[in-house]
Amino acid sequence: MARPDVYPIPSCAECGIQSAGKCPACHHSLCIDHFPLDAHDPCAARLATRVTASACYICGEPARPRQWSSEVYAHYIDSHACVGCHRAICDDAHTILRQEDIVVRRDGVRSHRYHITKRYCPVCSRLRFFGGLIGAGWWLTGVIVVIAIAVIVAQVALG
Ligand SMILES: [Zn+2]
Ligand SMILES: [Zn+2]
Ligand SMILES: [Zn+2]
Ligand SMILES: [Zn+2]
Repeated sequence: MARPDVYPIPSCAECGIQSAGKCPACHHSLCIDHFPLDAHDPCAARLATRVTASACYICGEPARPRQWSSEVYAHYIDSHACVGCHRAICDDAHTILRQEDIVVRRDGVRSHRYHITKRYCPVCSRLRFFGGLIGAGWWLTGVIVVIAIAVIVAQVALG
């Protein structure tokens, strides 16, 4: 008889033992040891060819993307790049804003928690602020339109 409550647990693409999660870049199932980007192919090969791209675009400090696991179900992903412009940025000087997103993905009966670090470079953190200003500008435009209509209506009514 079929057992619908039994799910096969995927095995690690590198060593074949029980996997702990999926790499967000290549979508391979991997164990804790092979989850880091430089521990499995094709991500390790891709990382090696992108050495020059993994330096801060402002100061040239190393900014290599990293990922690691702290538990079988908890994985940390840090692209070390700005989410606004996708350029690599260093940790100390040029990550102006840092946020952590937690994404939970189910994998059969198990679920995995992915902690994703989002960084903003100096330019994009300022653009976020201007995004707010543009939003305020739209509100102002709306108020002016309402006043203009009120004035026209009043003129028509009085005329
Ligand atoms: Zn493995
Ligand atoms: Zn990968
Ligand atoms: Zn920098
Ligand atoms: Zn940016």
